[in-house]
Amino acid sequence: MEVLEEIKARVFNFGQKKTDGNGSMKPLLGGKGANLAEMSLIGIPVPPGFTITTEVCTEYNELGKDTVVDMIRTEVENSILNIESIMGSEFGNKDNPLLISVRSGARVSMPGMMDTVLNLGLNDEVVIGLAEKTKNERFAWDSYRRFIQMYGGVVLGMKPRSKDDIDPFEEIMEHLKEKRDIELDTDFTIQDLKDLVYDFKDAVKKRTGQDFPTNPWDQLWGAIIAVFNSWNGNRALYYRKMHGYPSEWGTAVNVQAMVYGNMGDNSGTGVCFTRDAGTGENVFNGEYLINAQGEDVVAGVRTPQQITKLGSQRWAELAKIEEEDRVENYPSLEELMPSMYLELNSYQEKIEKHYRDMQDMEFTIQDGKLWILQTRNGKRTGAAMVKIAIDLLKEGQIDEEKALLQIEPNKLDELLHPVFDPNALKSVHVIAQGLPASPGAATGQIVFFADEAKKYKNTILTRIETSPEDLEGMNIAKGILTARGGMTSHAAVVARGMGKCCISGAGALKINYKERTLTVDGKEYHEGDWISLNGSTGNIIEGKVATIEPELSGEFAELMKLSDKFSTMEVRTNADTPKDARVARSFGAQGIGLTRTEHMFFEVDRIKAMREMILADTIKGRKRALLDLLPMQRNDFEGIFEAMQGLPVTIRLLDPPLHEFVPHQLATQKDLAEEMHISLQAVKNKVSELEEFNPMLGHRGCRLGNTYPEITEMQTRAIIEAALNLKEKGIEAKPEIMVPLIGTLNEYIEQENIIRTTANTVFEERNDTIEFLVGTMIEIPRAALMADLIAQRAEFFSFGTNDLTQMAFGYSRDDAGKFLPVYLEKGILKVDPFEVLDQKGVGQLIEMAIEKGRTVQPDLKVGICGEHGGEPSSVEYCYTQGMNYVSCSPFRVPIARLASAQAAIKSAL
Ligand code: PEP
Ligand code: MG
Repeated sequence: MEVLEEIKARVFNFGQKKTDGNGSMKPLLGGKGANLAEMSLIGIPVPPGFTITTEVCTEYNELGKDTVVDMIRTEVENSILNIESIMGSEFGNKDNPLLISVRSGARVSMPGMMDTVLNLGLNDEVVIGLAEKTKNERFAWDSYRRFIQMYGGVVLGMKPRSKDDIDPFEEIMEHLKEKRDIELDTDFTIQDLKDLVYDFKDAVKKRTGQDFPTNPWDQLWGAIIAVFNSWNGNRALYYRKMHGYPSEWGTAVNVQAMVYGNMGDNSGTGVCFTRDAGTGENVFNGEYLINAQGEDVVAGVRTPQQITKLGSQRWAELAKIEEEDRVENYPSLEELMPSMYLELNSYQEKIEKHYRDMQDMEFTIQDGKLWILQTRNGKRTGAAMVKIAIDLLKEGQIDEEKALLQIEPNKLDELLHPVFDPNALKSVHVIAQGLPASPGAATGQIVFFADEAKKYKNTILTRIETSPEDLEGMNIAKGILTARGGMTSHAAVVARGMGKCCISGAGALKINYKERTLTVDGKEYHEGDWISLNGSTGNIIEGKVATIEPELSGEFAELMKLSDKFSTMEVRTNADTPKDARVARSFGAQGIGLTRTEHMFFEVDRIKAMREMILADTIKGRKRALLDLLPMQRNDFEGIFEAMQGLPVTIRLLDPPLHEFVPHQLATQKDLAEEMHISLQAVKNKVSELEEFNPMLGHRGCRLGNTYPEITEMQTRAIIEAALNLKEKGIEAKPEIMVPLIGTLNEYIEQENIIRTTANTVFEERNDTIEFLVGTMIEIPRAALMADLIAQRAEFFSFGTNDLTQMAFGYSRDDAGKFLPVYLEKGILKVDPFEVLDQKGVGQLIEMAIEKGRTVQPDLKVGICGEHGGEPSSVEYCYTQGMNYVSCSPFRVPIARLASAQAAIKSAL
């Protein structure tokens, strides 16, 4: 029996008469094709066309050109007939020509990664017909030369031969410009354009040995195949690799009728938004130009006019244009073409309602007929993003879950820090780029030393890297810039905690402390010179840039309330001072997940006592110095407990290597020797004694508390006494004492014993008690492996994913800045693992530790306090692993609250 071959459609039409696909068919039709089909279906006039499916791309890769062209030839020919009948013109007809565009379109947007050919169908005869039809000879010839240029590059391989070669068509144009002594493309005469067409074709013949194809059908098949080929072009391959998109997806090909807005005064083109993309205000807005092509609106040669009358009046007010002048010279589309405007307005309303999100649309009016060329979800500022989602919710267009999912957590950052005035940013000189370590905007004068941060009113502390010694200066400076260090470098962590703008790891900067200079690309900047930092992009900008204060709008508060309704995981904060704690609470933190006690020791009055403790040769001497530190620590803890008003506060015992506390510069060493009445040599000896080959793996964490138990004793006493003091004042305090950097159970037991014994002693002394927990960080791989043993004693786990990442990858946190940028550039790593948690690798350690821990203690409290605790995808991961809380810098608390809500919503879908 004969087996009937299943007939499957390979070509899908869209347009008024016949639409085969719809918006849900993105895998088959690509994003663009599916969207065009969807618009057609809901009655939006899109220029008709058809989509060749992504499956054909795969067939082409397997079977080759001839087989595939045979397979789709009839369908393509019928589809062209369909376009012709809608447009009332004919492909290749010299009197009434139809021109088409051929575009790629994968299921996900891959901007600029694949090829496009516009104005296809032109040849020496058709161009004359087009000139007559449009009554615009210049436009016809300009389209023709653009077509040869585009087709030549994309289909015929007329590209620069090497890196330093110039584009062969550009070369011809430059040559003619020189000959004619003109500068701009727009200066070409019609005759110039005709000459260019001739020269371009000549160049094609010389280089490829073939004539430029004159038959529109040959042109079309050439372009279709070129788009398929571009799926495997270098750009697309790299992009796919970067995002992990499989090659089997393939690209669709969209063939569509060209429409023109430059056919006279009854034509025009524009871009519009269903709401204000800057503020989120629910007003239709946009710009248009009469008798123009799409690119004229964005090119800035002509001043575009506003679409609505309201927008036009607002614009005129800003531009200081009188109403009479406006009406006369810059009328809105609403005023100039009222019926076109009404039609456009009805489409924008319909499209937004359909997609349930703010849309960014392109349209063209060709000789009194309106066409919508494209719609997509509009890009918007953080403020607009929040307002639009909340407004759509209130309007009943979307439900609460959709409103929350529509918000990009990281973009909330913009609402929390001062930002540069977008207008000022248009004309700045960017001198270099570093890592956007802590968002915000800072403008100030360069200083190179932390103790000079007060030298000017506004300073940018510019360092090769920062150390805890610089803390005070960092606090004073408006922004922090470092040449070294990654996203978890000292500068980055501290700056984020302070909510201060910081750019780290800007490798192009050469900093000379001696000369007090900063050199970039051969240009020297001196102390006192003004620079600006854009902490959201990592751009380092020359000079001053105006900033504007962010407004925490009512919608933002509503969004946070909504997040908490869905979030089931707590969001805590990393805070070292009462001020940080208060800020974090105002952002909705539900506790403190990490107080790094060492930061308290760096303030001027403390560092002396700390150094005395470190320099002491005997236990007695050390205990004496610790006695001085005790009241200061107690005071700090009281402040923090008070700020948190009964919410849990996790306090970590001293963690960093002691050498960080002693001075390394001769002048400060001398000061210290004098202050302590000891010899300079004694100070120097101690400093070199404390020096380590690898301090990150050296004498730090619980190793300090286990070698100097008196430090743990003092810190525990300070915590417990502070809590008891507050209890006396009627304020509840819930300390959770955390032991850092354990790798073995015994390390933990030693510390726990000291903590509990000290606490009991204080309870006896005070004849009173409080509840408190003792737990540990899991930040050494071995601790994760031994988690079941550790959970027999520890009352909670907190993942220190900064160290866990460092030790799982074997990348030093302090030195990764030297190779991570290269790794990211080469695609060896997709993302910085210190920024985005490596779920596949480091995640295994986390999962194992939670599972092992909870087999022993089913209700074991588990959280995260590494920098990842404020990174949305990592927060989602923590939720899926059943963590009780994430903890992050105060300024990331709202982001984590939203990410946590989104995680809960997604898991229920
Ligand atoms: C960590 O290692 O993830 C952590 C929170 O501790 P620190 O960054 O202070 O080492
Ligand atoms: Mg750590």
